[in-house]
Amino acid sequence: MDFQFSKEEERLRRDIREFAKENLPDHHIGHILDEEHSREAWAFSMTISKKLAEKKWLTLSWPVEFGGLAASEVIKTIFSEEVGYWGIPGTTMGQAGTSWVAPSLMLFGSRAQQEKYIPPIASGSEDGIWCTGYSEPDAGTDMASMETFAERVGDEYILNGQKVWTSCAHFAKWLWLACRTDRNVEKKHHGLSLFIVDMESDGLTVNPLINMVGGHVFNELFFKDVRIPAENLVGVENQGWSQLMTALSFERRIAAGVTGIARRLFDELLEYTRASGLISQARVRSKLAGLAIDINCLRLLSYETAWKADQGMTVIHEPSRNKAAGDVLMEKLARIGADILGSYSQVDVMQKESKWTKLQGAFEHLYYYCIGMAIAAGTTDTQRNIVGQFGLQLPRSY
Ligand SMILES: Cc1cc2nc3c(=O)[nH]c(=O)nc-3n(C[C@H](O)[C@H](O)[C@H](O)COP(=O)(O)OP(=O)(O)OC[C@H]3O[C@@H](n4cnc5c(N)ncnc54)[C@H](O)[C@@H]3O)c2cc1C
Repeated sequence: MDFQFSKEEERLRRDIREFAKENLPDHHIGHILDEEHSREAWAFSMTISKKLAEKKWLTLSWPVEFGGLAASEVIKTIFSEEVGYWGIPGTTMGQAGTSWVAPSLMLFGSRAQQEKYIPPIASGSEDGIWCTGYSEPDAGTDMASMETFAERVGDEYILNGQKVWTSCAHFAKWLWLACRTDRNVEKKHHGLSLFIVDMESDGLTVNPLINMVGGHVFNELFFKDVRIPAENLVGVENQGWSQLMTALSFERRIAAGVTGIARRLFDELLEYTRASGLISQARVRSKLAGLAIDINCLRLLSYETAWKADQGMTVIHEPSRNKAAGDVLMEKLARIGADILGSYSQVDVMQKESKWTKLQGAFEHLYYYCIGMAIAAGTTDTQRNIVGQFGLQLPRSY
């Protein structure tokens, strides 16, 4: 592995930094983790995502024929890292389209689906915003237990059931849905299919779920005889499981963004300890040094995965390894940050303007947010199971 970045790669890093300086408020860290909480924050995200799309940065690694730049995975990783570092909005949950819907459609969508759905995703516009419907009340980690059912009737499927924890459904135009299409199967991961559903369909209800800091990110979705045109089936009916696993592996390549966020918060914390004099305490220095090592390890892991993919190697357990490492790192960063900030870390997460709030509330926010990070896209335990089974060839744990 070559640890040097090329001139082209360094130039991209500089260009993204310039973009952040030009387009984001000064010293933008407090909102690094919360773009979907308010309509105002969301509207700002959309203006940024359109600018990113104009530069083709949302679609860096896509093939040219789909509006991308065919850039390497390393380039894409640099982009994700810088986006995380500068807190550039418009690139995360609502952009499920760029990260896993469009790449999946490129692999197993029909030509008509590719032509209709991929260009709006590439444009960073409201029409390209997707939410993801996998989890159900009784099917999270055990996703194959999903019961939401679509029955083929003529040229349509009739959909009934419920999804939960659907991020961004209150802003999304489209739903990327996994559901059951056959109940009479020997194994529960058979008989599943993927669909594209219009969020304005009759019979589809979106209920907000307010999270523990009072923010609106999640929703639950209810389907009552929702009609899906048969042409919105993605890939082959009842063969959805393998497509779903591919889509999930795209989703789990998030470590580089996490590294960027962690590096930025670390830099801010280090600066705070210098300004406050806390750096003179050996225990503070020791904790910061430990964090610096962990952050650099995660950074190297995410670049190693990208490099392997660029060499044509198949990466199966690596994104899961990196996600598990990132989950653990973010919790550690939140705990150490709260410890160093002391009583200041107890300020209400939503009170960013309070005179008692330090570092724009970023650590209070992270303290709560890291719990969800360790669950979203599959829990840390799930990622460890994948590392054990596919990385270490251990026997299955369940
Ligand atoms: C921030 C966030 C955003 C999300 N966004 C979406 C979204 O947009 N769309 C969507 O569909 N879902 C979304 N989810 C839901 C998420 O995918 C599920 O919460 C996750 O898959 C876990 O499922 P569960 O909550 O049912 O927990 P469970 O599966 O019930 O797990 C409970 C606990 O048991 C452990 N466990 C379960 N099975 C095993 C096992 N076999 N081996 C070891 N440990 C195990 C888990 O690790 C966990 O600690 C989101 C969640 C979060 C936190």
